[in-house]
Order: sequence, then structure tokens, then C-alpha cells
Amino acid sequence: MATPEDTMRLQLSLRSKGVKDLRVLTAMERVDRAIFVGETFAARAYDDVPLPIAVGQTISQPSVVGQMTQALDVQPRDKVLEVGTGTGYQAAILSHLARRVYTVERHRALTRVAQANHVTLNLTNITQITGDGSYGLPEQAPFDRILVTAAAEDPPGPLLAQLRIGGSMVVPVGVSDHVQTLIKVTRTAGGYDYEELSPVRFVPLVEGVEHD
Ligand code: SAH
Repeated sequence: MATPEDTMRLQLSLRSKGVKDLRVLTAMERVDRAIFVGETFAARAYDDVPLPIAVGQTISQPSVVGQMTQALDVQPRDKVLEVGTGTGYQAAILSHLARRVYTVERHRALTRVAQANHVTLNLTNITQITGDGSYGLPEQAPFDRILVTAAAEDPPGPLLAQLRIGGSMVVPVGVSDHVQTLIKVTRTAGGYDYEELSPVRFVPLVEGVEHD
């Protein structure tokens, strides 16, 4: 459980890194990151750092989660797709901002952990799916918002196709182990607008599914 001091420290880190949207700050205040961090790193749950989770993956840095969520500008009626569930931290924050969240993870072991975490927090508007998220979720498309939390060389075509007109996607692009750029893609009636946001570093988007 976060103490008031933990919460205050994390909120200050978020604000100092440009997270100013009150809806985003409030959603992040409501989601206790300790639940999504393994026991080994529990003491660092409220530090503004990424931490290792199972199967060689990471839980994202809170300020990066905040910046991405702010850039996504989720509206209360939105249907949102997240690619790269991990232990489900980002999805939990999205669930407080959106009507419905679908989150896809390629490691079955992580999908299970995320499901359990979301049950613990009684978040009932999230559907967790094991799959290769680069193909999106055609049966639930179109989406108002798509958030990709693993780096792709280019925004995956199927995800672009599953955006509603007027909808937008935030995705880190670039080669893994190098500096990647967070971009926001907005679908217009005639095509797609691209906006570069900030340098970031994410684990790569990997093909296929692991039944671990
Ligand atoms: N959103 C997470 C961050 C997880 S790190 C959080 O809130 O902390 C990125 C995750 O993307 C990893 O768990 C990784 O397994 C997953 N991933 C990588 N490629 C994927 C793909 N093609 N489809 C779905 N998940 C993928």
C-alpha cells in the first residue's frame, strides 16, 4: 500500500516530467504501482524508474506512462486498445479514463499476472488477451485510441487500419537498444497525421506468442 508520502513523491515526479493533465494524475494516484511490481522490487514501487518483471520484460517508468497517457488524450466514452500488457499497470490507468480497455500481451504468463492484478483492484472494464498485438484485435475494431508499449520499427499497418477516423495512436518507433521516438498518429478522413513527441526507450515489439 502506498503511504501518503509515497503518493506525493510519485505525483511530484510526474509533474516535474510534464504530466499536468489532472485526469491522468488522478488516475495514476488511484492505481497502486506496488501491486504490479514483483516482491523483489517492492521497495522501489514508487520510484520513477522502470523495473524488471517476469520473462525478461519491464514495467514502464511512471513518468513515461504518464506522458504517453496524457498524449493519448483518452475520453470517457473511448474504446482503447493497448499492445504490451506486461503486468497490467498502464491498462489499469487507462481503465479509469476510458469506457473499455482491451490489452494484448504475447506472453501468456504475463496475461495471467495482469488478469489477477486487475481482479485485485476490481477493474472490470479491462479484457486481457494473449496474442501478437501487432495484428491488433480486428474483432473489436475500430478503436478510438491505441497505445503501444513496445517499440516497433514502424507503426504496424493493422493497428493503423483499426483506428477510427478521428482516433489516434501513441507508439514508440525505432530500432530496439537505440533511442526511439514516441509518435502520435491521428487518423483523418483522408489519411494519417504524424507528430513526434519525445525520445523514449522500450523493449521491442516481438512477433508471435509465448505459451509460457
Ligand atoms: N504496458 C506495460 C509495459 C510492458 S513492457 C506496463 O504497464 O508496465 C512491453 C510488453 O510488450 C512486454 O510485456 C512484452 O512481452 C510485450 N510485447 C512485445 N511484443 C508484443 C506483441 N507483438 N504483442 C503483444 N505484446 C508484446
